[in-house]
Amino acid sequence: STDRPVVLACRDIERSFGGLKALKGTSLDVREGEIFGLVGPNGSGKTTLVNVVTGFYPPNAGTVTLFGENITHVAPHAIARRGVARTFQNLALFKGMSVLDNILIGRHVHMKPSALGTFFYWWWAQREELANRRVVEEVIEFMQLQDIRDEPVDVIPLGLQKRVELARALVAEPRFLILDEPMAGMNQEEKEYIARFILDAREARGVTILIIEHHMDVVTAICDRVVVLSYGEIISEGKPQEAISHPRVVSAYLGE
Ligand code: ADP
Repeated sequence: STDRPVVLACRDIERSFGGLKALKGTSLDVREGEIFGLVGPNGSGKTTLVNVVTGFYPPNAGTVTLFGENITHVAPHAIARRGVARTFQNLALFKGMSVLDNILIGRHVHMKPSALGTFFYWWWAQREELANRRVVEEVIEFMQLQDIRDEPVDVIPLGLQKRVELARALVAEPRFLILDEPMAGMNQEEKEYIARFILDAREARGVTILIIEHHMDVVTAICDRVVVLSYGEIISEGKPQEAISHPRVVSAYLGE
């Protein structure tokens, strides 16, 4: 609802790649505790917006405000330290490492700066104090990954890999979680599983969530509000059901 504090405010964000305007002045507000959907056809600028918000791509114009502070030109690691965790569209797991070690990496935002960026971050993480352990154990249980914790992450099915990535984001104990197509490549059962975890994460942890999602059934089931992008512009916004059935949205998808 509109009386909740604004967690993320984007104002007139512009971002180009060469001559291509990927974002043409995007503005949106995500409020505390919301599950906010970012939808739109491929190439509409969703990932670019997430990359601007997380500091990976500085915008050419506009401002990003996070928890009331201007973070427009703040570096990705510093944004992470402010309580933002993210998962990627294409899995960013470390092959050859176990499920547990992959999840432990998510704790690195809480490491002392001296331990950051060293080759031994995983070794260090395994020796981290009990607090880290407790959070990790809690998340492993919450995500129901106990049985596969010692498996190499590349031998488990894609649906479980996506779950490991979500677990890694959760162990950072984010206040704001950004999910880029967490259900890509999943079957119906896995999608429902992840949808349940996302709702539970909001419920149990009070985390605010921004989600890029293509499955409209999922969007209408879990999102409080959505913004629809097309060619870098917002063409519709509001409650999911109404926003995605707007004629402009329908033709944007048909024209793809
Ligand atoms: P979406 O996430 O909605 O599929 P993107 O944000 O990935 O869309 O892309 C928006 C547009 O910006 C596309 O035309 C894409 O090709 C372009 N784009 C995105 N990232 C880059 C990049 N790093 N270099 C060049 N063009 C890019």
